[in-house]
Parts: sequence; structure tokens; C-alpha cells
Amino acid sequence: MSPEPSQDKRAIVWFDIDNTLYSASTNISQAMGERIHAYFVSTGLSHEEASELHFRYYTQYGLALRGLTRHHDIDPLDFDRKCDGSLPLEDMIAYVPAVRKLFEDIDRTKVRVWALTNAYKTHAYRVLRILKLDDLVEEVVYCDYQAPNFSCKPEAEFYHAAMDRAGIQDPSQCYFIDDSLGNVRAAHALGWGHCVHFHEVGLEQMEGGKLKRIGDEVEDGRPNDKGFHHINDLEQLRTLWSEVFKAEAPAE
Ligand SMILES: [Mg+2]
Repeated sequence: MSPEPSQDKRAIVWFDIDNTLYSASTNISQAMGERIHAYFVSTGLSHEEASELHFRYYTQYGLALRGLTRHHDIDPLDFDRKCDGSLPLEDMIAYVPAVRKLFEDIDRTKVRVWALTNAYKTHAYRVLRILKLDDLVEEVVYCDYQAPNFSCKPEAEFYHAAMDRAGIQDPSQCYFIDDSLGNVRAAHALGWGHCVHFHEVGLEQMEGGKLKRIGDEVEDGRPNDKGFHHINDLEQLRTLWSEVFKAEAPAE
């Protein structure tokens, strides 16, 4: 993380990484959930206790690891190696040329493109490399598992720290997309100007160790009463955020 806030005055597009830049159909959240469960069990808990605490910490802190570091004597980097670090991501995620093209079509004279993730940097950069987006994402704001009492989405502190680092004072300058409704609501509540919920209706994902069908809570494709949109295809950003994309070349 660079220590100095950026002096760049361009607006900023923040992309969540996991289950946003790749589909929940990869089942990565399930594979992560299994590893996190095994990690809880390795601290001496029964399977039942592990499931209960995993869900409680996820719900209370936004990340199971935050509960583990607060209430158990564990090394967060050991957790990261055994959970995210052991995922066979290269076999699970495929490069999608259309997503790279979407990133290429964002007009960099108008906006910066940064990632905002609850993962640690190792996992974040690994996913971006597999997706061939690492050269198109200027900075990654990640969860610093090494910092005592680190913050994460959806805590306001995490978003404020991200804005500070980007040198953004006006939250309306922030574009943001995330598959977690809680994370999008939090950003929107802070006044982030252009929030979008990535929402793959009908697929399943694991949250806090529990399998959940996506799509129960919102109507897809429409702005809800909170004023942000739900989309199931990143291509829809070209319409919702048309002002940040390069103007189309005239047809020949
Ligand atoms: Mg996500």
C-alpha cells in the first residue's frame, strides 16, 4: 500500500474482486467456505461449534477471520495461506476476454480503476493475474490481515481509508460494484455516488459457511428504493456508467 494519498483528481471506479469479476458459478466461495470451516476445526472446535462461530463472525465482522483474530490465538497469514492460498484458482477461474475488453474500454482520462477487496493482497493479485486484469487495475485496496484490528467492508472505516488513499474527498466521485448487498448498502450510505450490486440471480454462493441461493432479496435489473442498481452482467455497466466509458468509434 503506498503511504502517500494520491494527488490524482480523476473520479474512481472501485471493483470488488471475488464473485464480482468472476462468476459465483465457479463455486470458489464454497471451496473457501470448506477451508475456513476446516481452519476453525483445527483450532480445536467441534464441527458444530465451527459452523456456528464461522457464521457468527461473518455476520458480525464481515469476515470470519476478523472474529478469529479477535477471539482466538491464530496467525492471520497462516489462515490466508491455508484458506485462500490453497485454492486451485487457476483450475477454477477462466480468463474472460469480454471482461478485459470492458476494462480496456473505460476512459482513463476520466476515471481511475481500482479494486476494493476484503481479501489479502496475495489472493487479490492472483485473481487479477488469472483474469488478465492486473495491468488494467491501477491499485488494489485490500484487507491488511497483518494490521492489528484491521478493518474491512462493510465498515465505514475501510471505505474512508480507501478514499483517503485515493485522495478523494467527495464521495460522489466514487463508482462501486460489489456482489455483497451489505457492502453496496454501506458504500451508498456513505454517499458513494454510483453504486451497483452485482447479483447473479439463481446461482448459489457460500456466506459465513452457509450456502445461499442468490436472488431472494432483490429484484434484478431495477433500482431499488435505496437508489442503486442490481445487475447480473458486468456489460450492463456500459449503460449505467456510460460517462466513464470511451465514446464508441463511429461505424465505418
Ligand atoms: Mg465479493
